[in-house]
Amino acid sequence: TNSMLSGLPTTIFSVMSALAVEHDAINLGQGFPDTEGPMDLIEAAAAALRDGRNQYPPLAGIPELQHAVARSNARFYGIAVDPLREVVVTCGATEAITASLMALVNRGDEVVVFEPLYDTYLPVLEMLGAVVRTVRLAPPHWDLPRAELAAAFTPRTKVVLLNTPMNPTGKVFTREELEFIAGLVARYDAYAVCDEVYEHLTFAPVRHQPLMALPGMRDRTIRIGSAGKSFSMTGWKVGYVTAPAPLAALVAKAHQLLTFTVAPNLQRAVAIGLDKDSAYFERLSEGMRSARDWLAEGLGRAGFDVLPCDGSYFLIADITPLGFTGGDVAFCRQMVRDVGVAAIPVSAFYDARGTDIPDRFVRFAFCKKAGVIASAVQRLRLVR
Ligand code: PMP
Ligand code: GLN
Repeated sequence: TNSMLSGLPTTIFSVMSALAVEHDAINLGQGFPDTEGPMDLIEAAAAALRDGRNQYPPLAGIPELQHAVARSNARFYGIAVDPLREVVVTCGATEAITASLMALVNRGDEVVVFEPLYDTYLPVLEMLGAVVRTVRLAPPHWDLPRAELAAAFTPRTKVVLLNTPMNPTGKVFTREELEFIAGLVARYDAYAVCDEVYEHLTFAPVRHQPLMALPGMRDRTIRIGSAGKSFSMTGWKVGYVTAPAPLAALVAKAHQLLTFTVAPNLQRAVAIGLDKDSAYFERLSEGMRSARDWLAEGLGRAGFDVLPCDGSYFLIADITPLGFTGGDVAFCRQMVRDVGVAAIPVSAFYDARGTDIPDRFVRFAFCKKAGVIASAVQRLRLVR
């Protein structure tokens, strides 16, 4: 039958992962770590199962995790949070994004987004009947085009949807850029939904700053985190929303309709994770930074032009110097088949109805073991 979802293609992440399996390729496409997260969290999750944490937990999350999310906001960003009224636990950031947009967007409301964008944003906004205003960032630095952004805001703007650190660009929005966005949000009496799943994956000296911590933004911002990224367990699908109480109540209602609750044993383990000392979070980002450097160097030697990356799991490489003119999609299909390395064409992060979509960029995930990156680099030498 024909439905609102008939035209939605299967996500590029699943498509490329399937091709990676089919061609026995090294998968630098879909962003998931190839090492387990912290063993104490795994033990805590297993112990919680035996401990009888197997029935519906409270809708907004177990209080232990709500408190841990609140503590983490205070510790890293100086944001004071009422744990039981301002935190909602969701099935990953994916649900948190959908629930936050459901909470805020009415049919016909305008929503400002930045392109390239994560693949769930547009289809969800479309289902909600939002009018999308897209602001495109330009490579290689993906700086905020201020005049264009200002022009995208109107009296009908309800939400700006921001992803920092940003997938797929590896951009981390600067304090000045965030101040500019905050000024517009306040001037137009709008809200911000901030997808900050890579908050702990920035590379020194760059640091993540939440828009929520800027003056005037506390009551206008919904901030989203993900245990999948902060504890390298993407399959757990535990996300958390921090929002002013009236918005958190709306997000909780959306959550009630979407999934209602999240596995209690995983919530218990994530609560322990969020209280880990700063050495844990530093090691996480330092390890990822080394991986970025190895991959960037290898891509450079293979002839790619590597773009800067200050955070996330991802590097973007320009294929132009390789002399390949068939576009990023064909390049990725050929590379997985002939070279045995899977990556993601960056054009997948653009609204397919748009014009002048760049087709010379490829996204590589570096959240992989050193040996895996070394083997991928070895194979990539054959890419020319
Ligand atoms: N937002 C961005 C920008 C992401 O990259 C991802 C996951 N790759 C998500 C949201 C989804 O996070 P989760 O797995 O917690 O649902
Ligand atoms: N967020 C991950 C990425 O960008 C993939 C998530 C997914 O497979 N939906 O690679």
